[in-house]
Amino acid sequence: RRKWKRVMGVLRELEEGCETTVSRLRQVVDAMAVEMHAGLASEGGSKLKMLLTFVDNLPTGSEKGIYYALDLGGTNFRVLRVQLGGQRSSILSSDVERQPIPPELMTGTSEDLFDFIASALQQFVEKEGNGSEPPPIRRRELGFTFSFPVKQTSVSSGILIKWTKGFAIESMVGQEVAESLQRALDKRGLDMRVAALVNDTVGTLALGHYHDEDTVAAVIIGTGTNACYLERTDAIIKCQGLLTTSGGMVVNMEWGNFWSSHLPRTSYDIDLDAESPNPNDQGFEKMISGMYLGDIVRRVILRMSEESDIFGPASSRLSMPFILRTPLMAAMHEDDSPELTEVARILNDVLEIPDVPLKVRKLIVKICDVVTRRAARLAAAGIVGILKKIGRDGSGGISSGRSRSDIRMRRTVVAIEGGLYSSYTLFREYLHEALTDILGDDIAQHVILKVTEDGSGIGAALLAASHSSYS
Ligand code: ADP
Repeated sequence: RRKWKRVMGVLRELEEGCETTVSRLRQVVDAMAVEMHAGLASEGGSKLKMLLTFVDNLPTGSEKGIYYALDLGGTNFRVLRVQLGGQRSSILSSDVERQPIPPELMTGTSEDLFDFIASALQQFVEKEGNGSEPPPIRRRELGFTFSFPVKQTSVSSGILIKWTKGFAIESMVGQEVAESLQRALDKRGLDMRVAALVNDTVGTLALGHYHDEDTVAAVIIGTGTNACYLERTDAIIKCQGLLTTSGGMVVNMEWGNFWSSHLPRTSYDIDLDAESPNPNDQGFEKMISGMYLGDIVRRVILRMSEESDIFGPASSRLSMPFILRTPLMAAMHEDDSPELTEVARILNDVLEIPDVPLKVRKLIVKICDVVTRRAARLAAAGIVGILKKIGRDGSGGISSGRSRSDIRMRRTVVAIEGGLYSSYTLFREYLHEALTDILGDDIAQHVILKVTEDGSGIGAALLAASHSSYS
């Protein structure tokens, strides 16, 4: 009995540590908006990098013709061809080919990597009309999604700041990314121009805007998390004199690195960060994204097993970082069988903890719930932070003397993508609930989260079209 009491103590401490009351969330909203300001005011002014993208016009629907995209951001890369019909939401056809990146190329030379990509693209293009069609009259155009931090110098050029996700080609850091690809294409005699170099969130925003012109921001919540949004150029103070015909520009926030003392942090978060390869980095991401949620749960279970014998003899599996993947955690959380058989199965098969009583299985579900609810509610606060920064949170701006009921809230769409949001139902529901909690019903009903699919690829092709040298 005493042991169970100790476990309950650990649970209570977790719940308190993860508390996301509405007032706490509103503090996170404010902190996000403040950090956005700071990141736009000066280079290095915030943990939010607020990177300029030079994307000043988003696809409208008038784009027409065939465009290509190359999506490099993880263990796979994809080549795409999209045929656009010249009206909103008129993607007449799209073809995708996926290929794994041979691991040795991720740490080899940039020439080898880009030659490999160029060769895959060439084969994809050559398959086009089986050689029976005449070659295109004009040069083909390509959108290149490169999901690593890049300091852009124009919509189609930029310098690699650093590699992430297992890539390590040191000579490439500080080099022009699009130019390296263009060189590889030219060398193979492939007549194609890199028309846009974009981050995956920007692709998602482009696709969202193509379907719905009220789309003002995009969020990705998958293995990692990031967001971008449409900002007024005169608010981008760190780049004075920046002029665009539209008066706006998409800003890539790199919001995974957001930090605020208002974030509800537990000892598990502190340990996870300290033991990670990038301590003090990506603090927001470590509380929210799919890479980490399962491991936070594992750490709580480990602690409980150290405090008591409710899990039987110690399992060495429990000490293995990242052994409990987030999809498995979600499966336990969403187990709706009366006996929680899925929880029992995963505890047994993955963590090698057999024969746990129902009471303990229920406890596991509760832990998953606390961790996911916090993640989803913090993501919602981040989204409202963006809305606040651009005056779409219903607060009506500082100068407004109107009463709340006078303010006509504009329809506001946020494009959203990523496996955690799209495949984890309870995460999604908690996120939606928190949006309403923070904004209130009246405002929240004007904020629409719209799932896009393959935005990182298709969106890049759309941006190649809207930045085509022929239009
Ligand atoms: P990525 O972010 O790796 O480019 P995705 O957007 O498809 O790719 O996200 C995949 C991530 O989403 C996985 O790493 C996992 O953390 C999370 N995920 C996928 N499916 C589920 C699921 N059913 N439940 C919870 N999380 C999931």
